[in-house]
Amino acid sequence: MKTLLDFNLQELESLVVSLGEQKFRAKQLQQVLLDGKFEYESNNLPKSLLEKLANNGYIFQPLRILKKVVSKDKTVKYLYKLEDGNIIEGVLMTYKYGKTLCVSTQVGCKMNCAFCASGLSYVRDLSCGEILGQVVAVNKMLGGTLKDRKITNIVLMGSGEPLDNFDAVVKFLQEITSPQGMNFSVRNISLSTCGIPQKIVKLADLGLSITLCLSLHASNDVVRGQIMPIARRYTIKELLKALQYYYDATNRRIIIEYVLIDCVNTHVEQARELAMLLQNLPCHVNLIRLNPVPERGLKPANEIVSKTFLSMLVRNGISATIRRTTGDDVTGACGQLRISEMKKGE
Ligand code: SAH
Repeated sequence: MKTLLDFNLQELESLVVSLGEQKFRAKQLQQVLLDGKFEYESNNLPKSLLEKLANNGYIFQPLRILKKVVSKDKTVKYLYKLEDGNIIEGVLMTYKYGKTLCVSTQVGCKMNCAFCASGLSYVRDLSCGEILGQVVAVNKMLGGTLKDRKITNIVLMGSGEPLDNFDAVVKFLQEITSPQGMNFSVRNISLSTCGIPQKIVKLADLGLSITLCLSLHASNDVVRGQIMPIARRYTIKELLKALQYYYDATNRRIIIEYVLIDCVNTHVEQARELAMLLQNLPCHVNLIRLNPVPERGLKPANEIVSKTFLSMLVRNGISATIRRTTGDDVTGACGQLRISEMKKGE
């Protein structure tokens, strides 16, 4: 089974020509794919092309929406079923300025961060088409098409570590920003990473100026190493160097993500240490209240502790805010809904 959403326009052109069809059909085919249509909905394509594609094992859409859960604050969580039966998830958030879709990049995750549900199991990487398929499917669900897009922003913050699936993620970014395709602006795309310095440098060199978010979550290597296994491989110093490189190449302010976990990383001394660390980096700190994952046994910091931490950062000259949490009641933290769905199947 080969998914056509994995192909860019040039690759689709070679494919249709190799199947004995005219080259211009590739553009038509791409529009049908990006509209989220399935084979049976593609009535403007010649029957001969549809038959040849089917006979050669090509499919139009790599996933289907299995379930939709709406939270009180209107955040929507989607569960998607992939062709091989694996399940992934996404979150759609509605803001004043538009709709942001959070996409997954892997089935599960290898990083195994202590507070996160995704790392409880890694299955496989997603292909470019499977990442793109999430955007296409939700856009269609919202009544959108390629020409009349309903999703305005994309964040690569769902399950998985995007920089651990580098090639597929880069191809996805190139496709999603292509003027012939969905035509998203790089300004409306953010990628969140646990921090792999050489991949951050590689991303900067590609010249795709998306917003880079770093999941830092600690003010020193010792504490970071306790909650994020990746921190035992790369130091914060190495990371900051890569982030500065990214900023110099793209001129995009870095977003630092910091999940406040009770009694782990919330001490005022740690806020001061964090402020010192970030003093020279053009960045904004997003403080996030921990969304407790029962399997992990960690507790969120209370409001007073969170506000004290914030004011300590601000007082030390760091731009910072506490991120409003959305969708807690629909197991909003990454990986949580997938886990609860898998448990039902046990
Ligand atoms: N692997 C990437 C992207 C996925 S996680 C990364 O590490 O950044 C997206 C963000 O959600 C990260 O900042 C992550 O640390 C955070 N996160 C994970 N589990 C969480 C939880 N239980 N509560 C709050 N935030 C969580």
